[in-house]
Amino acid sequence: MNKNIILASNNKHKIQEIKAKLRVLNIDVLSQSESGCNIDVEENGTTFAENAAIKAKALYEILKKPVIADDSGLEVDYLDGAPGVYSARFCGPDATDKDKYNKILELLKDVNDIKKRAARFKCVICYIDEQGKEHFFEGVCEGRISFEPKGDSNFGYDPIFLVGDRTFAEMSEEEKNKISHRGLAIDKLFKYLKKQ
Ligand code: IMP
Repeated sequence: MNKNIILASNNKHKIQEIKAKLRVLNIDVLSQSESGCNIDVEENGTTFAENAAIKAKALYEILKKPVIADDSGLEVDYLDGAPGVYSARFCGPDATDKDKYNKILELLKDVNDIKKRAARFKCVICYIDEQGKEHFFEGVCEGRISFEPKGDSNFGYDPIFLVGDRTFAEMSEEEKNKISHRGLAIDKLFKYLKKQ
């Protein structure tokens, strides 16, 4: 490996996914704990890009090395884009994934037309390079909110997010990563780093 990038997260799934993709470029992605720097910043931005930048800058200020951070969430059209940047905290700090997706199903219980249940997952990655310059990469995955939860793989709102006729939770992790918001954002980051 000829370059390290520190990821502002300790989430195993995220690290594995980004690590596997960037290894091809001889880049090793380390979690923040592997870098010896465990930060926990308040994500008080109003957009995914702002939150990703808040996390990346906080880590860069300490390490002065290339870093990446991402922020992601679900936007439901019928709920005017909610839960959006509040996806992780939608039902309070102690809520389970099940509590959160059940709340969405409850809020949409009178929406019988599947076309009115449009939603998307968004992910923005902020990469800060050696010189401290910020670069942003966005991935969007369009879908619909199902009428009931289906599947048990993956995490978060996956059991209620339909792409075509299957939810993310009915797909293998590999299958999901090919079309997911995070997969697409990582792809854009990959293409950028490949040109450097
Ligand atoms: P963060 O980007 O790790 O802060 O994630 C924000 C929240 O959005 C997560 O806690 C999940 O609730 C939701 N989320 C983000 N990406 C996904 C996904 O791929 N599937 C399901 N839920 C997701």
